[in-house]
Amino acid sequence: MQFNTYTYAGAHIAAWLASNPAPSARDLTAVLASYDVHQPRPTAAQVRALGPWAERLRAVFAAATGPAKAELADALLLAADCRPRLIRHGSGQPFHLHYVAAGAGLPARVRALTAAGVAHAIDDGAGHRLRVCGRDGCGAAFVDTSRNGRRQFCSVRCANQVNVARHRLRQRQAVAR
Ligand SMILES: [Zn+2]
Ligand SMILES: [Zn+2]
Repeated sequence: MQFNTYTYAGAHIAAWLASNPAPSARDLTAVLASYDVHQPRPTAAQVRALGPWAERLRAVFAAATGPAKAELADALLLAADCRPRLIRHGSGQPFHLHYVAAGAGLPARVRALTAAGVAHAIDDGAGHRLRVCGRDGCGAAFVDTSRNGRRQFCSVRCANQVNVARHRLRQRQAVAR
């Protein structure tokens, strides 16, 4: 399974937005640009307009079962008015899928791209890889791109924090014995 293809850009952007529901315009621009989204610069108002969408994306990652994820993602496809198109930006450029008209505003494009991204992941049988970090107090959404698909934490940092805490707990238990 190829998680770093353009198909998965939408799922990765969805995870980032779900984890950062009130980002700065600059940070959102950087993330969108890193996935080759065209005209990636939102206004502050456009960033705010995506706040409720980030919550809906988050619900997909947080949903406990495959069918629940699929129902939520399907509702996002409708809400984003996803209409796949094959577009190229000039002759000689590669054709690729867009999910709304190329001239649509940035919030509409981000909604459609992220809805399509999580839907593609589920269509690929990878819905269980759309997950929320297992460390209490983190709650970041992430796409598990590991080979076996069993990553519990959003980052090495969270994994280390939990491992250190577990280690200390075991030490305390050993001393108390
Ligand atoms: Zn394009
Ligand atoms: Zn985490």
